[in-house]
Amino acid sequence: MIIVFKQNAQAEEKARLKNKLEQQGFQIHASEGVNSSLFGLVGDTSALSISDLMVNDCVDKVMRVQEPFKRANRAFHPENSIVNVDGVEIGGKKIQVIAGPCSVESIEQVTGIAQDVKLAGATLMRGGAFKPRTSPYSFQGLKELGLDYLKAAKAATGLPIVTEIMSADKIERFVEDVDLIQVGARNMQNFELLKELGKTNKPILLKRGLSATIEEWIMSAEYIMAGGNDNVILCERGIRTFESFTRNTLDLSAIPAVKKLSHLPVIVDPSHAAGMWWMVEPLAKAAVAVGADGLLIEVHNDPEHARCDGAQSLKPDRFANLMQDLRNIAQIVGREL
Ligand code: PEP
Ligand code: MN
Repeated sequence: MIIVFKQNAQAEEKARLKNKLEQQGFQIHASEGVNSSLFGLVGDTSALSISDLMVNDCVDKVMRVQEPFKRANRAFHPENSIVNVDGVEIGGKKIQVIAGPCSVESIEQVTGIAQDVKLAGATLMRGGAFKPRTSPYSFQGLKELGLDYLKAAKAATGLPIVTEIMSADKIERFVEDVDLIQVGARNMQNFELLKELGKTNKPILLKRGLSATIEEWIMSAEYIMAGGNDNVILCERGIRTFESFTRNTLDLSAIPAVKKLSHLPVIVDPSHAAGMWWMVEPLAKAAVAVGADGLLIEVHNDPEHARCDGAQSLKPDRFANLMQDLRNIAQIVGREL
C-alpha cells in the first residue's frame, strides 16, 4: 500500500502516522523525492481501510499495490535508485561499463585486461573466480586464488571488482574483497543465497534466470531487499527461447519493462545473450538505445585460448572501438558514457 502526502504535509504529522502504523505491525519505507513524498507499507494491509487513512489531513491519496513485489516497486520509490559501487554510481546519468574476462586465468591475464578496458573507458572490471559450468569436467575457476588475482588487478587499476558468488558459505570473503557481488542466472532463484545476501549491505548484481519472467526476476530482487539490502542492480543476459542460432535471446523489451515496474538500475550483458563476439557490438548499442544503465561485456586478450566463453569475448581493441560508438549513442539518448 502507498500513502502519498500532500505537498504541505508537516514532518510531525508524517512521523505520528508512521509511529501508529508501525505499532500496527507494518514496515514503513519513506520516500522523499523532488516531486513526491510517500510511505510504502509492507505487511498484510488487507484489513487497512483507505477511507480511515484518508482521515489524516496530511494524506493526499492512498493506493493498493497490485504487484507482489513491494520494496522493488517503482510505486514505493518513484525516482530511479542509484547504487554506489565503491564510488561508481550505477543508475544515474552516466552509463557504466563492466568489462573483463569470463574467468580469471592468471594474475597477468586479469591485470592486463583490466588495464586495457580501463583505458577504453570501462569503470568496473569483471572476472569469474567461481564458475557455474554446465559440465563438471569443465574449468571451474581459480576460486579463492582468483579473488586474490582480482584484488591485484584492482590495486593496479583502481577498478572495482565484479565477480560471481555461488554459495552462501563464501559471503564473508566476498563482502571483504568484492565490490559488486554477482548472482548468476543459474542462482537467480537460490532463495537461501538471496536471503543471506539480503543481510549484507553490499551491492548485488542479480542476473535474470535462464527462463525467468520479469516478475520472477524482480521477486528475486525483493528477496534481497526484504532482508534490508536495497543495493540491487538487475542484469538482463538473454533468456531461453525456441531460437537456437544465438546462445540466448536478448530480451531488450525487459529494459523499459523493468524501468516501468521498478526503481532499480538495470544493465545488459550482450555477451552471454549472443554467445558470439560479432553480435555483442550491435546488441550493446541497442541496449544503450533502450535505456540500460550499464553493460557487462566479456573481453579477453586471447579469446582462442580462453578457458571459458572465448567465442563471445571481444579483443581489447574491438572493445575500445565499441566504447567510442556507444558514447555517441549515449549522447543521443541523453546519457553519458
Ligand atoms: C558470467 O557472467 O560469466 C555468467 C556465468 O553469466 P550468467 O549467469 O548470465 O550465465
Ligand atoms: Mn562467461
